[in-house]
Amino acid sequence: MNDPFKDRAGDVLRSLQNIRVLVLDDEEPVRSLLNVLLTRNGCVVECAGDGRAGLQILLQKDFDVVIVDLRMPDMGGSAFLEQARSVWPWMGVIVLTGYADEESRAHAARFGVTRVLVKPMNQKELLHAVLEEAMEKKELVEMSASRSLDRIQSQLALLRNFSESALAQENIDDALRTLSAGLGDLLPCAVVGILNLQGEEPVLHLHALLPVAQDFLLNVEQETLRRYEALSGNPAPGRELRVVFDTTNLNPQGAKMIGSSFTVPIITGNTVGGMLTMAAIAPDAYSSRDAAFLYHAANRISTVLTALSRMRELSVRDALTGLYNRRGLEEEYQRLWSISRRYKWPIGVAVLDIDRFKHLNDTHGHLIGDHILREFADLVQQVARESDIIGRYGGDETVVILAQAGNADCIAFAERLLHAMRQHVFCTNKGLALKLTVSIGVASTMNAPSEMPSDLLIAQADRALYTAKNEGRDRVCVYQPARAATSDTPTPPPPPTTSGYAGES
Ligand code: GH3
Ligand code: MG
Repeated sequence: MNDPFKDRAGDVLRSLQNIRVLVLDDEEPVRSLLNVLLTRNGCVVECAGDGRAGLQILLQKDFDVVIVDLRMPDMGGSAFLEQARSVWPWMGVIVLTGYADEESRAHAARFGVTRVLVKPMNQKELLHAVLEEAMEKKELVEMSASRSLDRIQSQLALLRNFSESALAQENIDDALRTLSAGLGDLLPCAVVGILNLQGEEPVLHLHALLPVAQDFLLNVEQETLRRYEALSGNPAPGRELRVVFDTTNLNPQGAKMIGSSFTVPIITGNTVGGMLTMAAIAPDAYSSRDAAFLYHAANRISTVLTALSRMRELSVRDALTGLYNRRGLEEEYQRLWSISRRYKWPIGVAVLDIDRFKHLNDTHGHLIGDHILREFADLVQQVARESDIIGRYGGDETVVILAQAGNADCIAFAERLLHAMRQHVFCTNKGLALKLTVSIGVASTMNAPSEMPSDLLIAQADRALYTAKNEGRDRVCVYQPARAATSDTPTPPPPPTTSGYAGES
């Protein structure tokens, strides 16, 4: 029974049918030989020449067994195994080596690998090893022992419950916190790190479930980024990464080093869109007992995280124009505001309102009105800079937050938009040729007192807009502290132009 290959050779060959094997070896002849041998015996085989290519294949498909040469150029077998073990701990592994000395065996054992074969390999021995690894994996993930089945079933039921309550949260932070806390109840875990690269900016959420020192969080951050690089083959985000964590469970006396960790990559299409890392204080915390649960849970976790990041996009975007909605705009504005105040950068706000839009709606109908709003949003995006934040404030009102901009920059932006509007003919693809104008109010923090509240700036730009409307529309007005930017020198139309600008104030 210990040696099924010997006792039931025919059965064994039959049981090799459809075992999925990934072969990693830098020597082409070895790859070909293994490919032919395994395929002839019914296995489904893929091959790669280095660890990096191997990880890419594993991210796209499931395998039962990996046969890996420890010594390969580029990403070698050790680096590959380190990553692969932390993502697919249930997978069977056979190490191939030139010399099966103590050192190689000890090396393989570090990654929990017990089957080490020497090149040139004995074919029978290899097939035998593949079968044994595949059977062990099958036993593990099929939960053949009924005790572990019960345990895993109840773990999965809990996972379903808390992932549903995560999806029901009002905002992404609460949702990730619920998910992390739930995972922490199921598995040994001190910190959950969730890296999300699917939004506008890369974000890493770190949730400490047990008291740990700040170094522990830093280690989880580094480990998550390192794994992202290894798995995706892309550089990890640098300074642009926003790290979100709460300090509730931080304790300088707590653990500093990660004992063991497990990673779930979040795959969207063909790319790694994010990662979830669970880090425990104890070494070997993610034992084979948990590997079975992780195997069944990884897909669900990945799906929930993809849904969460989509949920966030939906919650901060205006469905009609794709611009930020009021909530998204407010969040982005607060973020830019605090950065700008910290670095003493000026920040500008432009409030845009289409002139006589109601009349257009009444004349051509709401659907044309909607089309105009979309076309207008596209135009604003073309005129604005990458770093500007654009949101639909409501109705036909749009707000643009201009990063590192004083009054002169705000006016330059507004003039560009007025110019673009004059060139643009709306709804030509609807059989119409509509000319529209826009009124713009701007304000900046150029000389504002440092304690100025953030909402005051938008209110100031709004007052300037009111003045622009009163002065005849199709123009820009700058907020002026003394009075809300009534122009000393009325703008002679045509063409309507800037009003109320008293130089960089
Ligand atoms: P003003 O020059 O003073 O801005 O005149 P206005 O007609 O544009 O007046 P106002 O900005 O107050 O009117 C906004 C109009 O926008 C009122 C409403 O019918 C229309 N509106 C608001 N939301 C939508 C929308 O989602 N789609 C469409 N088609 N129209 C909208
Ligand atoms: Mg309007």
